[in-house]
Amino acid sequence: MDISYILNELGEDREQYFNAVSPPIMQSSNFTFKTVADFREALSDEFEATLYSRGQNPTLNILRQKLAALDGAEDALVFSSGIAAITVPILALLKQGDHIISVENPYSWTIKLFNNLLPKYGITTTFVDGSDTKNIQQAIQPNTKLIYLESPNTFSYDLQDLAAIATIAKQNNIITMIDNSYCTPLYQQPIKLGVDLVAQSATKYIGGHSDVVAGVLTGSKTIIKQIFDHEFLNVGAALSPHSAWLLIRGLRTLPLRLQRSFETTKRVIAWLKQQPQVDKILWPFDENFKQRELALKQMLGCGGLFSFTLKDSSLEKIESFCNKLQHILMAVSWGGHESLIIPAIAGVKQIEYDPANHRHQLIRMYVGLEEADYLINDLKQALNQSF
Ligand SMILES: *Cc1c(COP(=O)(O)O)cnc(C)c1O
Repeated sequence: MDISYILNELGEDREQYFNAVSPPIMQSSNFTFKTVADFREALSDEFEATLYSRGQNPTLNILRQKLAALDGAEDALVFSSGIAAITVPILALLKQGDHIISVENPYSWTIKLFNNLLPKYGITTTFVDGSDTKNIQQAIQPNTKLIYLESPNTFSYDLQDLAAIATIAKQNNIITMIDNSYCTPLYQQPIKLGVDLVAQSATKYIGGHSDVVAGVLTGSKTIIKQIFDHEFLNVGAALSPHSAWLLIRGLRTLPLRLQRSFETTKRVIAWLKQQPQVDKILWPFDENFKQRELALKQMLGCGGLFSFTLKDSSLEKIESFCNKLQHILMAVSWGGHESLIIPAIAGVKQIEYDPANHRHQLIRMYVGLEEADYLINDLKQALNQSF
């Protein structure tokens, strides 16, 4: 399907709402029926009905159609957060005694799901280095139900060979699921590579303006309906119509924003590489990136999120550099208009800092929509004042 059609027309029936270009925010919790027969039919299959906004809502449905089409999926569900779009399908598809193989160091709340919440229900997880497909294959047990991927990772940018892993999973009757937040469907289409379920934090690039928390899950209609009918309705993690409307608005400019972020990131990285204080750069499309070939094979573009290290990785130098930035903001999240920085040390207790630990040294930067020179000048003054 043409991307311009998806972003500008799909799911939008303008004659239903005065030919307005922008769809209405259907801010209603419930919907009425004229006859008991109609009411009974809606209650019997809420997936197909406009009954109650914990399930379906017309504004949400416009968004769902667009998100499914972008992923090349049959259907989509939208959640009130990215982590709900990860947690709910796993609760829906696995049961006591099942086993998960996950990539090492996925998103922080995904780790907590695997380590804290799921063990309470008798579901265990083995973490493996997914950059070598053999590690995943060797971790398969008779009770393995799910292979959980995150490619690229959003701190270390580790990749997995999606097509190869999906093939192995199919041979073993195992469901595959990926967190595709880094790439969005514009830069990576896991369903076309054989992955079953694609989750994404729409808080990031889809929303794009740092004003909505939301999540997306796409997959076959059968799996999506199964998740909707039970755990989705039970957990109650539906997105509000107003937030859905903001995501529809975000989608209109998604290709422009991604391209801008990608292009500016190339310039910022090229500048950083010339600075004597800077040591390593981690970014999937960087010429020195260890999995660059795989990145070019399965990704159509690269996001504005990268990490770097300083040659002097003392706590004092990293803190000084980050504290001196004037325009690049220190905050969690990414994908909005504003450039951001997170030093890994912000998540480490000072006495536990290990200067030899590569993960502790990382400084993650997100490149937003500002001019490249504006960001470079900010980085320059912070480096010069710190060294
Ligand atoms: C932010 C993020 C999430 C969680 O999304 P929320 O919308 O914050 O719940 C999951 N995975 C990745 C890679 C993220 O960056």
